[in-house]
Amino acid sequence: MASSVAKLNLEGDALTPGEQRSWWLREALASDRGAECPPLQKSVSADVVIVGGGFTGLWTAYYLSLAIPSLGVVILEQDICGGGPSGRNGGFVSGWWDELDSLHALYGPKSAVRACHAISQSITSIGDFCNSNGVDAWYGKAGYVYAATAPQHLDLCGRMVQAAHEVGAPDEIRPLSESDVRARCDSPAFKGGAFMRDGASVQPARLARGLRRVLLERGVRIYESTRVDRLDHGRPATAVTSSGEVRAPHAVIAINAWATTWPSLSRRLVAWSSYMVLTAPAPEHIAAIGWTGGELVSDLRTSVRYFRTTRDGRIAFGGGGGRAGTSIGDAFTHDIRAVVEAAEGFRLLFPTFADVPIVDAWGGPIDVSPTHLPAFGSLGPNVHYALGYTGNGVAPSNLAGRVLADLVTGADSEEVRLPMVNSPSRAFPPQPFRALGAAMVRRAIIAKDTAEERGRRPNPLANAIARLPRKLGYMLGP
Ligand SMILES: Cc1cc2nc3c(=O)[nH]c(=O)nc-3n(C[C@H](O)[C@H](O)[C@H](O)COP(=O)(O)OP(=O)(O)OC[C@H]3O[C@@H](n4cnc5c(N)ncnc54)[C@H](O)[C@@H]3O)c2cc1C
Repeated sequence: MASSVAKLNLEGDALTPGEQRSWWLREALASDRGAECPPLQKSVSADVVIVGGGFTGLWTAYYLSLAIPSLGVVILEQDICGGGPSGRNGGFVSGWWDELDSLHALYGPKSAVRACHAISQSITSIGDFCNSNGVDAWYGKAGYVYAATAPQHLDLCGRMVQAAHEVGAPDEIRPLSESDVRARCDSPAFKGGAFMRDGASVQPARLARGLRRVLLERGVRIYESTRVDRLDHGRPATAVTSSGEVRAPHAVIAINAWATTWPSLSRRLVAWSSYMVLTAPAPEHIAAIGWTGGELVSDLRTSVRYFRTTRDGRIAFGGGGGRAGTSIGDAFTHDIRAVVEAAEGFRLLFPTFADVPIVDAWGGPIDVSPTHLPAFGSLGPNVHYALGYTGNGVAPSNLAGRVLADLVTGADSEEVRLPMVNSPSRAFPPQPFRALGAAMVRRAIIAKDTAEERGRRPNPLANAIARLPRKLGYMLGP
């Protein structure tokens, strides 16, 4: 491990993932710590109690406060708002036009297109929210480049482009030649690709913290460092913590991958880890590869690598991470091996940055659903949830907020009629098979991706394991 670290030019906070908060969150807190939100210390009543202060919980509270300004909304967050993946992600606010095939298979062509438009609206809404509330979350909409690094990936791009044509939306995804891709972001590994115009980037922690500020101004009560031990689904619903309870006619569960241990939701997801690394500022290197347009870029591995630039001229690069767990522990935050894997991906794709050190790294859990798409809905009349973003939740959690707010208020809106609201769900196997299977499949997918990228035939066993979820009827893996 020590020799990998030296070879990869990893230094400083990159060597201690999980010991400090994500670089995004540190940057956001340094710019504005925000008002204190002390822990809950007594029992209180509210109209709606929201468990979880990430994007899902925060957007839900925001849309509730717009719909009914007098509503008493309480958020209970075990850490600080944005302390989870909402303040640690890649900041890809991306559309769903690349998901048309899966959406079509699940819901049919018309509903698939409605779902894509709903996500497009979320991308716009996030920018509008920032503008109208003075939230400087570095929002910029420059589109999304898919960069093929293996021949198989070119077929995937062709399929995405064709799917957009078939639903009458040819402008949403366009093919890119090798020189097109390399003109936008030059890497010798890129062989061609596709461009989706629905893609924006944010500094995710600034967005989360900005939302928190706006909610406090709108009268939402937020209790941080307050872990909910149990949610009783009665009427009222009761969120039970060690230091008090919140009783409310409606409850919203917005706890992302932590739902793996919640009895009512645990079989609906598995948790995988995902890690990011961050370079030192190197604006001249970024200019030299022509990546000055602010586009999001990812490759097309099943275990996707995704990368973007920052306002101060760094590259934030995500990928690697093959752990799964029965509960959200250190494997999701402190895994130096996953950092090394992400750094290897960065060094492979960007050889001209060899002299630029990687100075930060962090990780978090992603909530993988059986369809790899999120599900929103209700568990009974007054308890609502959103989960299963599968590592793509920044734009969808805004949509979740609109849906959940409407489920609470009973509004008969376009949003609650979207196909992923209260759609029947497939369950994963019980523990320990769920966590073991998830870890095995994830490692096999990474092995298969890596072999293909190096022009080798994947190991037959890894190939078979990687393809197992599809064989079993899950929409996961190759
Ligand atoms: C490294 C990484 C990179 C990613 N990159 C991208 C990306 O570029 N684009 C994208 O679209 N998505 C990305 N994602 C996924 C994205 O971050 C999530 O889908 C999104 O943030 C989900 O928001 P959320 O509010 O549902 O979850 P979270 O942000 O996880 O919020 C849930 C909150 O619930 C709290 N909580 C849990 N249990 C309890 C409890 N019992 N009591 C009280 N509070 C509790 C947690 O502390 C947490 O703050 C990435 C994820 C990771 C880990």
